Amino acid sequence: MTEELARCVGVSRTYGSGPTAVVALHTVDCVLHPASRVALMGRSGSGKSTLLHLLAGLDEPTTGVVRRPGRGEIGVVFQGPSLLAPLDVAENVALPLLLAGGRPADAAERAAGALSRAGVADLAGKLPEELSGGQAQRVAVARVLAGTPRLILADEPTGQLDAEHRDAVVTLLLEAAAELRAGLLIATHDARVADRLPQRWVMDDGRLREVGQA
Ligand code: ADP
Ligand code: MG
Repeated sequence: MTEELARCVGVSRTYGSGPTAVVALHTVDCVLHPASRVALMGRSGSGKSTLLHLLAGLDEPTTGVVRRPGRGEIGVVFQGPSLLAPLDVAENVALPLLLAGGRPADAAERAAGALSRAGVADLAGKLPEELSGGQAQRVAVARVLAGTPRLILADEPTGQLDAEHRDAVVTLLLEAAAELRAGLLIATHDARVADRLPQRWVMDDGRLREVGQA
C-alpha cells in the first residue's frame, strides 16, 4: 500500500462564530502520498491557505480530522513574510535545523548549500528587511530545501517572482521532492505553475474538487 503523508477526512474550518463566521472549508476529503505532485488552485479567498495550514498541522479543523500517519518532517513555504527580522538570511535558513538539534557547523553548511541551489547565495549576510519580496520568497524556499521534509507544502511560492525565477523555483521544488521522495503541493493561481504539475486540485468557495491530470 502506498504510504500516506497526510489525509483530510470531512474537514471543515470556520473562522469566528455567530453572524460574522466565515466557513473557509466545507467537508474536504483529500490525501497526499510521496508521489503526489499537486497544484492547489482556486481564486483568492477560496480556502487554499486554510487547507495548506491544516495539512501542515499549523491549524486545527473545526470538524473532521487531519491525519499525518507518516510523521515525517513537513516543509512549509509560507505565502506571507516568514523570515525572522533579527536574523540574517543564512541564520534564518539554518534555524530550523538548529531547533531540530542539528550541530551548528552542519546547519550552516546545509543552509549555504540550500541558498546556493536556490540561486540566492549572495544574500546570505543580508537581513530580511534588505530583501525584495521575490528574494524573500526564494530564501523561504531555500529554508525548506535545507531540511529533509517528507511533505513540501508551498503557498503561492512564486507570487512575487518574474517568469525566469518562477520556473526556477518550481523546478527546484520538483527536484527536491524527487530527491527526498517527498510529496509536493503548491498552492497557486498561476496556470503556468499548475501546468508543471501532474495533479490539480481546485478550491471553490471552500469546497475541493480533484480534477486529476492537468
Ligand atoms: P486563499 O488562500 O485561497 O486566498 P484563505 O484560506 O486565505 O484563501 O481564506 C479563505 C477564507 O477564509 C477567506 O474568506 C478569508 O477571508 C477567510 N479567512 C482566512 N483566514 C482567516 C482568519 N484568520 N480569520 C478570519 N477569516 C479568515
Ligand atoms: Mg492564500
